[in-house]
Amino acid sequence: MPLLGAHVSAAGGLRAAVERASVLGCEAMQLFTHNPLQWQGKSPSPAGIDAFRRAILGSGVKKVTAHASYLINLAADDYVRKHSIDAVIREIELCYQLGVDSVVLHPGSSKGGSRSEALSNLACALEEIIDRTIDKNVVILLETMAGQGDILGSSIGELESVFEAMSWNKRLGVCADLCHIFGAGTDIRSEDGYLRFVSSLERHFGLERVGCWHLSDNKGALGSNIDRHEHIGQGSIGIIPFGMLVSDERFADTPAILETPKEGVGDAGNLALLRKLAGAE
Ligand SMILES: [Zn+2]
Ligand SMILES: [Zn+2]
Repeated sequence: MPLLGAHVSAAGGLRAAVERASVLGCEAMQLFTHNPLQWQGKSPSPAGIDAFRRAILGSGVKKVTAHASYLINLAADDYVRKHSIDAVIREIELCYQLGVDSVVLHPGSSKGGSRSEALSNLACALEEIIDRTIDKNVVILLETMAGQGDILGSSIGELESVFEAMSWNKRLGVCADLCHIFGAGTDIRSEDGYLRFVSSLERHFGLERVGCWHLSDNKGALGSNIDRHEHIGQGSIGIIPFGMLVSDERFADTPAILETPKEGVGDAGNLALLRKLAGAE
């Protein structure tokens, strides 16, 4: 079974996020280290960083991942590029201090320009980021996207081209988002569909590069490019691939993070369902 967990709010401080994850019995958690709609948050104090690290050690959480700001677009070719590079570097430096070993990043947008140029901008920016944080072993996980408009990363081939351009740098990985993959047109609704998808991850990246899963059903249809999160089993995907993933021994140490709506059954209900599917409860 993967390390099951949820994206938890850091309202009230980073340590409060760990407390929320603990209450849910999470083995993994994801958080925003600051408001994701802002370029820069207030840096936590050394005491705040220490409190976070101690809270993690005292909890059942084995792996933590941070999700980078939504404003970042490393594929940009204007002033946004420099802001984005600096923002990812700050995020990596903070993750390193917090003992967080990966950061999930949206690949960015071509903003109406050439997709291939945007992808090469992305690879160059990532190279610069890795060079400038060479002594901080934090892995950057590029998230698979639902493919709306000019958003990059809706196909495995597109993400693979970035890995290729970066000579398969060890600090790059993939965050496989089941809701997005389905929105982008990969039919994972059956057991065969799930297995085919995992085989393609293996072929293109190797499974050791899959550093995180994002779990939510999708209100949108297959191939609609819609990214509207829904409780597990209550959207167009259905329960099968989630049941397959939580029983998949190949991902035993990989975080699988809920990004389902907080209302209704909430994280507790979705986690209980996933544990039941895994035969753990
Ligand atoms: Zn994301
Ligand atoms: Zn999404």
